[in-house]
Parts: sequence; structure tokens; C-alpha cells
Amino acid sequence: MRSVIKNTKLIPFLDLKSSYLEIQDEINKSFKKVMNSGYYILGEETELFEKEYATFCESKYCIGVANGLEALSLSLIACGVKAGDEVIVPSNTYIATWLAVSNIGAIPIPVEPCIKTFNIDPTLIKTKITKKTKAIIPVHLYGQPADMTSIIKIAKENKIKIIEDGAQCHGAQIYNKKIGGHGDVVAWSFYPGKNLGAFGDAGAVTTNSKKIADKIRSLRNYGSKIKYFNDEKGFNSRLDPLQASFLRIKLAYLDNWNNRRKKIAKNYLDNINNDKIKLPYVEKCNSHVWHLFVIRTKARKKLQEKLDNIGIGTLIHYPIPPYNQKAYLDADLNDKDYPLASMLANEVLSIPIGPHLSNEDTEIIINALNNF
Ligand SMILES: *Cc1c(COP(=O)(O)O)cnc(C)c1O
Repeated sequence: MRSVIKNTKLIPFLDLKSSYLEIQDEINKSFKKVMNSGYYILGEETELFEKEYATFCESKYCIGVANGLEALSLSLIACGVKAGDEVIVPSNTYIATWLAVSNIGAIPIPVEPCIKTFNIDPTLIKTKITKKTKAIIPVHLYGQPADMTSIIKIAKENKIKIIEDGAQCHGAQIYNKKIGGHGDVVAWSFYPGKNLGAFGDAGAVTTNSKKIADKIRSLRNYGSKIKYFNDEKGFNSRLDPLQASFLRIKLAYLDNWNNRRKKIAKNYLDNINNDKIKLPYVEKCNSHVWHLFVIRTKARKKLQEKLDNIGIGTLIHYPIPPYNQKAYLDADLNDKDYPLASMLANEVLSIPIGPHLSNEDTEIIINALNNF
């Protein structure tokens, strides 16, 4: 009789359950507490998380919202961006960055990345600024901050707003200053797989501007400050107290978990040694929090297959850039104009990294890459 071969991955790309198991006593206690409170929208847990996350980000205000996409859209509206305005976005980002712009009727204007960091290239931003440009959305891609010093200078010179997409960089720093208020607003996602992730959808906005904070607080809750008085046409995009209570617990672990990611990244950078594989580059002024560890190779398909056969999970972030998606056919963008983003889409491969990846698994991954 043939034995049954278990088809479970040896090393999954991402292990979300382990972070629950590590803190399950606290999470389960909090679940009961919120359920027994009889209060399930906004409320004390949401307010406490907002305070604690603002402190963590070294910013004055934090407003919890429903998810990262809406954090971006509400931020754009709060910065005065209107239908028909142009907003500069990276050509290589997750489509949410673009959709946030499109969803309010504004037009995403793609700009290519620096090939070393994969983040938006400030020297190219100027060439895309027109009279219609109202804002720019730098994405701190894969966990490494974009070049905010240059971007802030360009934004000031051209009187445009900066909305940072912080979905991948919880805890990252530039010259020891946390991402949270370099630009006018930072939009955060707490999608479960992010460095700080909820157990469901959640998001937030941080800012040092009281005006922007007040506006988002109103917009997320039907344009209302006092129940049944609606000052403007708002949305329903609230962070619920159950997710907020979970995020409060996880926030206390974030620095430790990010440090574990940094150790794994250092191990990869020090020990992966293969001419066919390009390793990520970190700017000296940046503290990278390694949401993703993204390598580049011209032989991606073969490498991914080989790793899959060994039982090592990988993903591609991202296989199709937004300008090549069906959703953006109407924008009539030509991929020849975005050679770097197109190249990255063909070459990038994300290998496992996360606070619960063991040293043994890290060694298996390094050996597999070196033997390729
Ligand atoms: C995850 C992500 C988002 C969107 O977050 P959601 O909470 O899923 O809406 C936006 N931008 C980037 C770069 C992301 O990685």
C-alpha cells in the first residue's frame, strides 16, 4: 500500500496563525471584554487604540477607519483633492494606491521607481507635475521609507499635498523619526498580513494637522460630529472596537516582531550569495521593517518552481502593474512608458519573512537559494 504524502507546505509564505497562538490568551480575553461591553461601533477601545497608535507613530492625531483603501481615499478628500485633479502615484505599487485616487474621481499619474530601492524616484516627479496636480502618494514599499526629504521639497515648491501610503511600513523610520507625519497625512492598512494586522479589515490615518484630523473624523462617520447632524456628505468607514482591541494588543508586540524580521533580513542579506539573484538595497538613513523580502532574478519561474518543490512558499508583489490591469484600460497607459515597473513585475519574488519564521526554516531557504 502506498503511503499518503501530505501536501502541506513545509514553509508557508506567511504564517498568520502563529501570531494569534503567541498571544491567544490576551486576544481571547479582549474578545470577551468587548463582547460583554455591549458596544460594537467606535467607542473606548477605538479611542484608546487611536491614542496609542498616534504615540507609536510620533504623530499628533490618529483616526481609525475601515481599511487601507478608504484611509487613502478619505485622506485625499481631506487634503482637498477633487474629481478631475491629478495625483502622482508610483507605477509599481499595489493597485489600492491607484484605486483610492480613481474612486474619488481623480486621475492617477504614474511615476517610475528608483531601481535600487523600488520606491518612487523624486527626480522624475517634477516631470509629471501639471497645473492639475494636487497631491502625491509616496508608498513606503515593502517596508522601506521612500525619499521623503526630496518629496517634501518638491511638494512645498509646487504647493501640493503629500499622502503617504503606510500600508507596508508600520514602525519604519527615516533618520530615527517614525513614519507617521512626514507628509500631510499617512494612510495605514491593518489587513491581517501587514506588519501590524487585525483579525479582519481595519485601517487608520495619522496626521499632525488638526484640520485634516477633524475632517477625516467627520467623513468616516457619515459627515457627522453630533449624531443625526450631518455637516457634509460623508461615508461609513469606521474602525470597530473589537478590531481596535486586538490591534492594541498586537501594537505592544510590534517592535519585537519587527526586530525579528530585521534579524531574518540581515541573515538573508549576509548569507544569500548567488549571481543569479539580486538582493534588496537599504538606504543608510532608513530603518526598513521588512514587510516583504523581495529578491530579483531573471530566472524567476524556475526559481519559484524549485522553491515550491522543496516546500518553500513564495509570492510575487506584484505580477501585473496597475497600468496593465483591465481596470485601467480606460486610462490608455502604455507599458513602454514604464520600463522599470514592467521589469520589476517580471523579476521580483518575495521569499518568506515574518516574526514566526524559525532559524531552521531561514537556513533551508538560504541553502535553497544558494544552490539554485
Ligand atoms: C495592503 C495595501 C493597501 C490596502 O489596504 P487594505 O486594508 O487592504 O484596503 C494599500 N496600499 C498598499 C501599498 C498595500 O500594500
